[in-house]
Amino acid sequence: MTGPEASSLRKLPAVATVLATGVAAALVERHGRVAATDAIRAAIDEARDAMRGTAASAPDAAELAQRAAVRLDARLPGLRPLFNLTGTVLHTNLGRALLAEAAIEAAAAAMRHAVALEYDLDGGERGERDDHLRGLLCELTGAEDATVVNNNAAAVLLCLNSLALGRDAVVSRGELIEIGGAFRLPQIMERAGVRMVEVGTTNRTHPADYREAIGERTGLVLKVHTSNYRIQGFTAEVGARELAAIANAAGVPLLNDLGSGMLVDLSRYGLAREPTVREAVAEGARLVTFSGDKLLGGPQAGFIVGERALIERINRNPLKRALRVDKLRLAAIEATLNLYRDPDRLAERLPTLRFLARPQVDIEAQAQRLRPAVAQKLADTFVVTVGACASQVGSGALPLDTLASAALLIRPHGSQLMLDRLATAMRALPQPIIGRIADGALQLDLRCLADADEDAFLASLTRLDLDATRSAP
Ligand SMILES: *Cc1c(COP(=O)(O)O)cnc(C)c1O
Repeated sequence: MTGPEASSLRKLPAVATVLATGVAAALVERHGRVAATDAIRAAIDEARDAMRGTAASAPDAAELAQRAAVRLDARLPGLRPLFNLTGTVLHTNLGRALLAEAAIEAAAAAMRHAVALEYDLDGGERGERDDHLRGLLCELTGAEDATVVNNNAAAVLLCLNSLALGRDAVVSRGELIEIGGAFRLPQIMERAGVRMVEVGTTNRTHPADYREAIGERTGLVLKVHTSNYRIQGFTAEVGARELAAIANAAGVPLLNDLGSGMLVDLSRYGLAREPTVREAVAEGARLVTFSGDKLLGGPQAGFIVGERALIERINRNPLKRALRVDKLRLAAIEATLNLYRDPDRLAERLPTLRFLARPQVDIEAQAQRLRPAVAQKLADTFVVTVGACASQVGSGALPLDTLASAALLIRPHGSQLMLDRLATAMRALPQPIIGRIADGALQLDLRCLADADEDAFLASLTRLDLDATRSAP
């Protein structure tokens, strides 16, 4: 290579030269030597690429250090807070339930201080980590005993493996669910070391189907809540009470996986009725499993409640140790469950329930309040209106029920392409705003925007890079 291009490339400062500048020293102080050196190297590489085939002169060391600083300081945490305006309250990809203040405080305290995780404060001896929740869970569900694991998938896996390893588990063909994230019941059963015995058909399963399949080799009978779908039309299902009677008559336990189990009757908050865990226990299932971060509104967890002898077998399984819950979550779960002891104030204190029970008029009033500022920010390029929309519960809970809600509807003056670019620009914000594109508009469903977060939402929006929505594709 000869000529002006080669000579300016040779003038590009070396990494060591850039590191010697004052800006670089400050970078090393803030981010550490390794990260600072990597960013400087990347800035030099980028400058070299930009100069190739041009007669541009080389940036000096101070300029390169500055570019490295921009690169490093712009790096935002991947798990930074965002605004979930998708209309899905329990959005699995956005972390499901938001925790109650009491749960947040309890988890923070457990992070900061030593806690009696496996220590009996009465006797001063070794204790059990399940002891903290056993009493509460039994009180709230009417069960004899209880244990907690990493999530409900782990709860189902552990029950199957503890009670039916090398044996049969009988399940209806209508309940062989797949839920998001590749949780497929047949595969979980295989990995649990259980032989799946399917009974009935997709749409109809009868008591006799179970009776005929239960035999010498049966370890348990499994009932699974079809959380994320409904089979409608010409259907027949054996209810939990009848199935428990069939299983018990054969001396085999029934495990009822409720998915998003609820501890209170949701109809008192204007939502569709879901069976409560207490009801499932009373129906005679000897084990019931449910999630911590679905409708219950706590942190990720899986609960197993039921007969003491079975819970003891589950706790002796070496897999229990691999699936157990840490002190942060135990503290948050304990605080969340405590709120259920006062159902009258639950909707005030539990964000999930507060969002789900929020009336449409309230959401619409908020949308009207925010519309002028949003419209002003987007004025040149988009039209902003307020419209009705439908929120969902999410996480496979109550899949057919929608909740009447209100949204800011953002439509472009020009090409529809601008909608995608606007959605992208909103995702790139320091506190991203996540909406949903539907019917030619970017919908921001405000159900999950707390009144107290309105200012933060508007502040985030002022940082929106509108040029990015206008530029050519
Ligand atoms: C959601 C669900 C699970 C898995 O629960 P996670 O807590 O997400 O692991 C298992 N079974 C059913 C029926 C579910 O709805």
